[in-house]
Amino acid sequence: MPGKNLTRDEAAARSAIVSTDSYAVSLDLTTGPDTFGTVTTVQFRATEGAESFIDLCAPSVSSIVLNGESLDPVEHYADSRIRLPRLAARNTLTVEATGAYMNTGEGMHRFVDPADGEVYLYTQFEVPDSRRVFAVFEQPDLKATFQFTVTAPAHWQLISNQPTPQPVTAGSKPGAGQTDSSDATPGDIATWTFEPTPPISSYITALVAGPYAVVRDEVATRAGTVPLGVFCRRSMEQYLDADNVLEATKAGFTFFEEEFDQPYPFAKYDQIFTPEYNAGAMENAGCVTIVEAYIFRGKVTEAIIERRALTILHELAHMWFGDLVTMKWWDDLWLNESFAEWASTTCQAEATQWSQAWTTFATAEKAWAYRQDQLSSTHPIAADMVDLEAVEVNFDGITYAKGASVLKQLVAYVGREPFRDGLRSYFAKHAWGNTTLADLLTELEATSGRDLHTWSQLWLETAGVNTLVPQVTSQDGTITAASITQTAPDEWPTLRPHRLAVGCYDLVDGEFVRTHRVELDIDGASTQVPDLVGRPVPDLLLVNDDDLAYAKIRLDEASLAAALAQPRALVDSLPRSQVLAAAWDMTRDGEMAASDYVSLAQQLLPFETESNLLRSLIEQSSTAVLTYVAPAKRAAVTAELESALLDATREAAGGSDAQLQLLTAWASFARSPQSLELLRGLLSGEQALDGLIVDQDIRWTLLTALATAGAADETEIDAELERDDTATGREKAARALAARPTAEAKETAWRDAVEHDGLPNAVLAQTALGFGRVHDTALLEPYVERYHSALSSVWESRTHHIAESIVVRFYPHVLADQHLLDATVAWLDASPEAPSGLRRTVAENRDTVARALKAQERDAG
Ligand SMILES: [Zn+2]
Repeated sequence: MPGKNLTRDEAAARSAIVSTDSYAVSLDLTTGPDTFGTVTTVQFRATEGAESFIDLCAPSVSSIVLNGESLDPVEHYADSRIRLPRLAARNTLTVEATGAYMNTGEGMHRFVDPADGEVYLYTQFEVPDSRRVFAVFEQPDLKATFQFTVTAPAHWQLISNQPTPQPVTAGSKPGAGQTDSSDATPGDIATWTFEPTPPISSYITALVAGPYAVVRDEVATRAGTVPLGVFCRRSMEQYLDADNVLEATKAGFTFFEEEFDQPYPFAKYDQIFTPEYNAGAMENAGCVTIVEAYIFRGKVTEAIIERRALTILHELAHMWFGDLVTMKWWDDLWLNESFAEWASTTCQAEATQWSQAWTTFATAEKAWAYRQDQLSSTHPIAADMVDLEAVEVNFDGITYAKGASVLKQLVAYVGREPFRDGLRSYFAKHAWGNTTLADLLTELEATSGRDLHTWSQLWLETAGVNTLVPQVTSQDGTITAASITQTAPDEWPTLRPHRLAVGCYDLVDGEFVRTHRVELDIDGASTQVPDLVGRPVPDLLLVNDDDLAYAKIRLDEASLAAALAQPRALVDSLPRSQVLAAAWDMTRDGEMAASDYVSLAQQLLPFETESNLLRSLIEQSSTAVLTYVAPAKRAAVTAELESALLDATREAAGGSDAQLQLLTAWASFARSPQSLELLRGLLSGEQALDGLIVDQDIRWTLLTALATAGAADETEIDAELERDDTATGREKAARALAARPTAEAKETAWRDAVEHDGLPNAVLAQTALGFGRVHDTALLEPYVERYHSALSSVWESRTHHIAESIVVRFYPHVLADQHLLDATVAWLDASPEAPSGLRRTVAENRDTVARALKAQERDAG
């Protein structure tokens, strides 16, 4: 699909010829359940006499008129592009086409609510999917104003980048968009004509349509009162806690306006929870869409509530960084995303109830970054985005998490005040324009006086993570020499400058108390820390205290022993998180036996009070048990963990966050008769746990656990779906069905998701989760061969999101054995010509299994 895969060179060549002024896009959403009408009129300037093209992905194009001259669609529309010959200095282009509704979360997604039959639509355009809805020069530096006119059922809400106008009712017309029935009775149809947007990039335009419920509010800003809206499907309205969403939103408005010294740039701010959504959220200008999982039907973990607030702030930060000032090309995608991650975490830590947000960042975000940075697919933060395919596989742990970690390091390096001053002049200079990284660095150099050229080369243009190890010698309890050594992996040998802190902790009344902290620049293979010389040897010496640096950390032997002997004595959550991260990293690197890590986690599980740390302990011990523990020990270690989780669940405080997390973790391992009996009892209501309310989501957790263990069949799952016949219910039922431990159940899941096209994105993802969930891994053995045989056709025939979802989620990771590794290596060897995005994803699977095998070897002793 070369036409779809716009290259950076093509984009640069096009913006040298074309500059866009305005789009008028007219959509008719009343033409049936499969397609919609779309008419685009673009005004643009061009080099006279030049030829160019505009992007469009549509089933059919009926008319193309350029400067009054009709162009034959058969001749001019091919391969997702409309060829535009003989351009004038000023051009008017009108394209009439039929667009297709999607069920993949890309372009114009159409969803029918099983609860009431209502139709809900939303658009998702990043990276290149506005062309699925209208004819567009699809690249971020061709900004323009966009005016949408939409015809739709009169009872719908229409939400776009500009405030919603009063609709004009235009009599009756068959209303196929109104319900899922194509022969719906004629209903009232209305037309909404929005005001043109300010000049923005096409990927942040948006349209959301359907009978959404809404809660309205407003916020005072430097630009006056800005209307706020929070929307969701009607059948979800009962669960919408709009107050909490709005509270975080308002905190963000105040914080960012002050921090950036720049008024909120758009006319209003709506947030819409949308069904079957691929990502967490999307920063459409003034019209943010958010995954519906962030409306809570039942009790959820504190970690998820915190994450939702972070997501709200992340998208809001994009209104300035990304939407007001936009990257020129996708090379700076990392800066766009990392900045939003850094800014939202800063806001969360400083202006909301989540003052420990940087601990969460260390625990979740950085762990993701380190993991991604040690895969063979790692790449410099400033990635070389030669074309759209490269962009699409780069929404990864480097672009988001490592970028944000390194930005945090940059703030430490230049200082918080100079960083803020640099940002302020950046926004003032580049509002409504496009920029590159160099434009930001110029401002930061001016305000900080630091040379960022070398820093940027070492940090942004090279890949890989350094390891920092303290070296301390002492005599009679006094430090005589102290240094920090820095190493780099062979493949990525760069050593870097780090701004970091070293903390000295002593055990006082059973708690580690920080007695000294030194902050310094380190560089090269070894850096002296003279400040420590002459001080008493601490019980625990922590390199990268306060987590300023981006680096793997090791503790000296005595400190590690002291910390692991009493991990609960690390009462502050950030150093506790740092020490546990070091232990986990050692486990991943085969320096600590996986069984030992699982025992450490088991000790801590009943006592961990920080929701994100508990979540991480559970995830890591699950990974360790499932794939890192030596096969010969696995049954015993798994049984121990199951039993420890069961005990911890029973003992957890009633109604607590820990109770919910431990229950979910225990259920995923439940297989002993004792566990199955409790699952059954909780589901039927014959047994109870103190303070646990068995809501609908917990019922699915319990039932899926029973299904996985072969203790619940299709009839029972169908009955549960009848009780909860909602979108969520359908997704959970798909997972439970696929989790049943029979060859037939796995076969059905595989066929529906991999071999057939048609499952909506969200159902496919849940089916994959169920498929991969097995107590007896032999059930997945046949899929080693089938998975690799299917790869090329899946990648070729499905949309990007669906293909990636299948390739990542249906890989039988849990087998984690030599046979799987060999098969994956063989596929890579035999497929040098496979698309780079596919090869990259498969190589990551290979790396994960290879790491597991090494850990197993270490664990076997
Ligand atoms: Zn973002």
